[in-house]
Amino acid sequence: REISITDRLFEGLGDDPNRVMLIDGPTGREVSVEAFRRGVRSLAGGLNARGTGKGAMIALMSPNLPEFATVFHGVAYAGGTVTLVNPTYTASELRHQLKDSGATLLITIPQFLAMAREASEGTEVREIAVIGARPEGADDILTLADLMGAEQEAQTPIDIRNHVLALPYSSGTTGLPKGVMLTHWNLSSNVDQTLGMVDIQPGEATVAFLPFFHIYGLECLLNMALAAGGALITMPRFDLEMFLDLSSRYRTRRMYVVPPVMIALAKHPIVDNYDLSCVEQVNSGAAPLGGDVTDTVERRLGCPSTQGYGMTELSPVSHSTPASEARAGASGLTVPNTECRVVDPATGKDVEPGAEGELWVRGPQVMKGYWNNPKATAETLDADGWLRTGDVVRFDEDGFMYVTDRLKELIKYKGFQVPPAEVEAALITHPKVADVGVIGVPDAEAGELPMAFVVGAGEAPTLEELQAHLEGTLSHYKQVRLLRIVDEIPKAASGKILRRVLREQVKEAEQA
Ligand code: ATP
Ligand code: MG
Repeated sequence: REISITDRLFEGLGDDPNRVMLIDGPTGREVSVEAFRRGVRSLAGGLNARGTGKGAMIALMSPNLPEFATVFHGVAYAGGTVTLVNPTYTASELRHQLKDSGATLLITIPQFLAMAREASEGTEVREIAVIGARPEGADDILTLADLMGAEQEAQTPIDIRNHVLALPYSSGTTGLPKGVMLTHWNLSSNVDQTLGMVDIQPGEATVAFLPFFHIYGLECLLNMALAAGGALITMPRFDLEMFLDLSSRYRTRRMYVVPPVMIALAKHPIVDNYDLSCVEQVNSGAAPLGGDVTDTVERRLGCPSTQGYGMTELSPVSHSTPASEARAGASGLTVPNTECRVVDPATGKDVEPGAEGELWVRGPQVMKGYWNNPKATAETLDADGWLRTGDVVRFDEDGFMYVTDRLKELIKYKGFQVPPAEVEAALITHPKVADVGVIGVPDAEAGELPMAFVVGAGEAPTLEELQAHLEGTLSHYKQVRLLRIVDEIPKAASGKILRRVLREQVKEAEQA
């Protein structure tokens, strides 16, 4: 749609200026529609008055707070670009993103100030601003209040289709995170596409722990829920008890989660202590999820459990599931105005209907390209606008998509291809398995051997017990051949298993 993401959001806020639309979960601090609108307009006006509005690159490094929404939309309204920084980053990771994006203003929280100063050295950052009060003695530091100016009446004119508004980075599951250029057109189109599949009611509250710096939290919570007239309860970091408590207290109808939280909802005993009868749908995305976990959550919460599929490059949604269409194991139905192809990566031709292949997507949500990386852009986007997702999928007769795994992650065992996500989904159902990650480790004879990293639930399982559990569930070639018991499975902020970290651990152990 030819509308800026902020005008799209303003359009959906409703008529009541006093309605509470953002609540800081831990403190209960409330922001009304009127206060939010004013905040966005004053920030846009202030930024433009300082010359850091239209065309500026602004880095935002903050956990989920109500002000995140104000800053994101203030910059958007001013005609600038926001590069979103993972708040768990170290100074050197932050410096890399500041340099790569060319940001001139860094907006963060007081707790990160020392690191922000260190990371900004040698970059183009000229000013640092903090959300909240100025830390004592930090006279050179601006606050959000300092950046506010006269309210700007309208969106700064920009080219809706081409102006890059957001520069989120991909999760870095397969390599270094890539800067993804998203336009107003991409984000406002994806809000409309996704809202075609969920019935958010005005004022409906959603608990937002999914980080806003990642495209899933940014678009599916911050933009979509607010554009539908909903309210967000923000959580600066995930905590299962707080999540359950807030969901119950604010009577949320929908939970937006990632697979590790689905596993907690399926297995953690404290879930039974909360009245979650208000919840009508639990939606998981960002990584593969087995049908067994979905079934358990449905039984425990007494409501449908669904999946959506997306990626940073897709703003992020291409597949979503209405609550009434829940189907175990499926990643969703194609959202409106989106075309899909399933392609054999070897030949570049479409596979037979129902067969597996690489998913290609075309639609208004497809990114403009990777930032400063024409080579990666050319490898991912073709001249006709098709985006290669790198994910292996198939569709059933009813149009539901099933994700097998990533092309790059498939384990090559004796000429067979073993999808680690499928093995993980089968292993997590073992009672002695609290969490699991599977990778292929090089083997002279077999090519690669599937190896499981397992966090034990109480007593740790043996390899023989796990193999007996998989026998009869999975084809024999998908059997795990090696086991290591660990304390934790490394995961990205978006909930994905970092298999490359597991591979590094194997290499380190070999060298030791
Ligand atoms: P990088 O591209 O930097 O390696 P990433 O691909 O993990 O990282 P994201 O854009 O956050 O970064 O994630 C997109 C990927 O997440 C998809 O390509 C897909 O592999 C996975 N994914 C998302 N939703 C689902 C789902 N419902 N089922 C299975 N996988 C999913
Ligand atoms: Mg990716």
